[in-house]
Amino acid sequence: MYAETRPLRARVLPSLPVSEEMAHTQSSMPTAKAYAAASATSSLALTTIPRREPTPYDVQLDILFCGICHSDLHQVRNEWSGVMPTVYPCVPGHEIVGRVTHVGSAITKFKPGDLAAVGCMVDSDRTCPECQAGLEQFCGNMTLTYNFPDRHLGGVTYGGYSDSIVVDERFVLRVPSNLDLAGAAPLLCAGITTYSPMRHWGVTRGKKVGVVGLGGLGHMAVKFARALGTHVVVFTTSPNKIEDALRLGADEVVISRHADEMKKHVGSFDFILDAVSADHDITAYIELLRRDGNMTLVGAPEKPLSVPAFSLIFGRRSLSGSPIGGIAETQEMLDFCGTHTITADVEVIPIQKVNEAYDRLLKSDVKYRFSIDMASLKSK
Ligand SMILES: [Zn+2]
Ligand SMILES: [Zn+2]
Repeated sequence: MYAETRPLRARVLPSLPVSEEMAHTQSSMPTAKAYAAASATSSLALTTIPRREPTPYDVQLDILFCGICHSDLHQVRNEWSGVMPTVYPCVPGHEIVGRVTHVGSAITKFKPGDLAAVGCMVDSDRTCPECQAGLEQFCGNMTLTYNFPDRHLGGVTYGGYSDSIVVDERFVLRVPSNLDLAGAAPLLCAGITTYSPMRHWGVTRGKKVGVVGLGGLGHMAVKFARALGTHVVVFTTSPNKIEDALRLGADEVVISRHADEMKKHVGSFDFILDAVSADHDITAYIELLRRDGNMTLVGAPEKPLSVPAFSLIFGRRSLSGSPIGGIAETQEMLDFCGTHTITADVEVIPIQKVNEAYDRLLKSDVKYRFSIDMASLKSK
């Protein structure tokens, strides 16, 4: 999840017993194997974490795959200390696909054996206007899947780099049975983050859509834009990405450093999704929007972006941002992926390679998402 700026509410949290020997002394509390970082400079390593006893409203999953999101790395290394300081130990992971092992007595939507998924959120207050509108991602009392105050156990929530998780039914999604599960995991963050703004801004058949940056988010955006029946143009700085962009479904690829290529598209786009988190010139893209066109940011550059007001005023263009999506829309996205057989392009790794994967992620050395095969955690 990108650009989440809500500060943690309760910073004075009781620290939980998470070392193996302490967890064992609390024999009544269920535990799970997990990979956690003990500090901002530690590698992720095997540990044991508490998981709650399922309530009547909970679903318990054995986690099969968990995608690696760039947010995981930021959070583990406490790089968002200003807005979301990391509480250690930190177990990241919010692209979770698994199989239901237990359901509470009030559960009707799931049964043991079902495939299920959990994304960036595990709870919200369900009563505020945002929740009532199905926009839980904007709820002021929402609980993120990891590093957020845990209402049940105290301490903070622990994410998907783990062998199991217990989540309220309302935040558990159904996974279409035709999807490859390793590739389905990243849909829970990279997928919904790119699908939601396209739906919000009316991206439909026949529209012209631009995707800036071909990484974990961008490659999903290309697949969705293609499946929605649009004319898809990928903008990249690397000529060596042209072939892949076309394979993923782009109709055209523009090398953004070539001003003459950019000029050909001025005033022509209905929607542009910008997935670049490095510093870059967004005005060049705003100029490519037609009247009432929108550009949505899903990448979060560190420094403030500069936008000349006239680039928006002429053409009544708009610039916006967007975080993940609501639960109902996340289910809609998964169902859409089932219909169109869309998954992320993933490199499946065992959990033991997660630290190496982080190093490679920093070099964008992955096409296009790592997906951890959690069977590797069980075998250890
Ligand atoms: Zn994410
Ligand atoms: Zn709410």
